Order: sequence, then structure tokens, then C-alpha cells
Amino acid sequence: MSGIDKSAAEAEVVRNKQLLLKDHVIGFPKESDFIISTENAISLNVPENSKGVLLKNLYLSCDPYFRALMIKPDHSIKTPFPAFTPGLPLYGYGVAKVLDSEHQNFKKGDLVWGTTGWEEYTLTTQTNSLFKVENTNVHLSYYVGILGLAGITAYGGFFDVCHPKKREKVFVSAAAGAVGQLVGQFAKLTGCYVVGSAGSKEKVDHLKNKFRFDDAFNYKEEDDLDAALKRYFPEGIDIYFENFGGKMLDAVLQNMNMNGRISVCGMISQYNLEKTEGVHNLMWLFYKRITMRGFSAFEFYHLFPKFAEFVLPHIQENRLIYVEDIAEGMESGPSALVGLFSGRNVGKQLVFVARE
Ligand code: NAP
Repeated sequence: MSGIDKSAAEAEVVRNKQLLLKDHVIGFPKESDFIISTENAISLNVPENSKGVLLKNLYLSCDPYFRALMIKPDHSIKTPFPAFTPGLPLYGYGVAKVLDSEHQNFKKGDLVWGTTGWEEYTLTTQTNSLFKVENTNVHLSYYVGILGLAGITAYGGFFDVCHPKKREKVFVSAAAGAVGQLVGQFAKLTGCYVVGSAGSKEKVDHLKNKFRFDDAFNYKEEDDLDAALKRYFPEGIDIYFENFGGKMLDAVLQNMNMNGRISVCGMISQYNLEKTEGVHNLMWLFYKRITMRGFSAFEFYHLFPKFAEFVLPHIQENRLIYVEDIAEGMESGPSALVGLFSGRNVGKQLVFVARE
């Protein structure tokens, strides 16, 4: 941008709608834990030589890890994540358009995904967590789902952690969500037998009919999870992709086969508890020589090019289905976020903020 253009545009200041955390959260989050604010204004121009980038946010990702960021830093349950600050906008993954840039790697008009604020416009200098949208033949929103965090989580957490082989028996919990639906489909593409669990009839139908899992069950209708797993896996489980924790993990441990692998992606049943549940069947780890490994998606970020090469043809040739649950507008943010913890979302939950 020329000097004349820049100073002429510097006058352009707009209201910036934001979603703020009201206070740290105890127990299950409620919609009233968040505030939509239009009090702040923002200049649509990046200060010269600041290396900043001004983003217009298009889609924002709702993720279960947000719950850990809502915990008061001095709470007795510790998390390794820096907490959100009450009174400030949440931050997380989003897809955005560059409106102005003083950074050599980004120019006006670029589409990017990565870390951004829960607001209409974000001025950021954290450019190492912004990535260019490489492929515009897919839905832009996929960059906060199948082509973003959820995708690399499912890919690394399944292939790198579990080393699946054809005909192995795979169980996925929270299977109809952003990550689970992909893990199940990756397992099917590998030739595995796959069963998923989810919390409603609609989700179970999706698992069996849309994502082509071999079978699925509603864990809320099962009084005895051990008995349910024995029904679906009479020959035992080789791989468990853990999203759930607590009583599901306990039941799975007793049903694992020799040399089984458990990929610990998350434990959403524990995130809102003031005291997390114990796990009682850990002895099965050595009875059955099971490998149980937790991971963070970050450790697989270097695999993004390989992952894109794997996943894009499957998307384009309809061998992979990706279901999204898109809430409209920043105002729908609180209910979309809270809904993650009551199972209201069917598929990847995100918020649509604005068109390009
Ligand atoms: P998601 O499955 O799209 O949404 C969350 C789902 O979890 C809800 O729809 C609900 O499904 C289930 N759920 C909510 N509260 C529950 C509870 N109290 N007990 C049992 N199930 C509950 O979310 P996602 O983004 O795909 O994340 C899935 C898991 O992966 C989470 O544990 C998350 O923390 C983890 N994760 C980890 C990484 C990593 O780097 N390790 C990265 C991304 C995600 P139902 O209706 O089926 O109950």
C-alpha cells in the first residue's frame, strides 16, 4: 500500500463485536459465562512497520480444550494451558481474510487459518500461528475442521500413535464429533472393523449410515458399558481412540486384546468435574501388554503436507464425509460453546462470523 493510501485509510475505525469470557468457570459452562460486547473499536489499518496483520474473521472453531482455558489459574485442578482472561475475547482457531498487513508473508486479500480472536476483526503479530489457505476447492470452513486441528489430531492420533493394521478392531468414543468421525473413517480406509459410541440416536445413525462405521451404539442407553463392549467386540478391541475418559476407559481396558494400543486424545467426560473420576482397571495395561499414549496435536503439525496429500483426494472423491454444525453469527457463540459439553453439536462445531 502506498503512503497516501495508508494515511487516507487510517481514519477508518469500526466497532468490533467480541465474545468475552465474563469470569472463570466452575462446573459446566453456561451461556451466561460469556458476554457479547460492541464497546471496542478497531482501526482497519495496521500501524506502519509493526509487522502486524489485520484479520477479518470468517469462521471460528469451538473446541473442548477451551474448557481447560476457562479454569482459574490457581484452581486445584491444574492444566498446562494459559487461561483465558476475563473481560478479554476468547482466542482459538479460525479462518480469516487479511484486510491489511505490515508483514512480508501476508498481503491484503490472503485467506488464512490459525490462531485468532473471538471478534469480528483481530490485529495480530502472532504470525507464526497463521497459515495460508492453500486449497480453495474445498469449503473454507474445513480449515477449522478436517483440514485443521481436528484433521491433524485424527490423523496423527490414529496413524502415528496406533499403527493400525488391516482387519484390526477399533473402538472410537465421542465418535460423531469433529475428531471421532474422521478417526472412524480413517480406520475404515485402512480396512479395520470400527465401532463408535455417541450420545444420541441421530449421531448413532450418522456413524452407521453416513460415516460407514461397521456398528455404533448410544452409550447413554447402556447401563453396563463392559457388557456393551463385549457385545460389539466379542473378539476384543485392538485399538481404542480415547475421547471420553472415566467409566468408558475403565470398561475398555477390560476388553483390550494383547498388544492393544490406546490413543489418548481427550477425556471430555472429565472436563467439567470438580473432582475427576478414578480409573480402576489399569492392571489390564500389563496383563495385555497394552500401549497407552497421550498426545497433543501440535506434535503432528510437521505432518500437515503429508496429511493434506492423503486427505484431499479422499475429500474430493467423496470417500471421506465431513459433517459440520455451523452456528450463525457471534451471538450464537455462547450456545455453540456450551453445547459441546451437553452433546448438542452434531459434527464439527463452528461459528460463522462473516462472508469474505
Ligand atoms: P466433539 O466430539 O466434536 O464435541 C464434543 C462431544 O463430546 C459432544 O458432542 C458430546 O458427544 C461429547 N461429550 C460432551 N460432554 C460429554 C460428557 N460429559 N461425557 C461424554 N461425552 C461428552 O469434540 P472434538 O473437537 O472432536 O474433540 C473430541 C475429543 O478430542 C475431546 O476430548 C477433545 O478434548 C479432544 N481433542 C484433543 C486434541 C489433542 O491435541 N490431544 C485435539 C483436539 C481434540 P456425545 O453426544 O456423543 O456425548
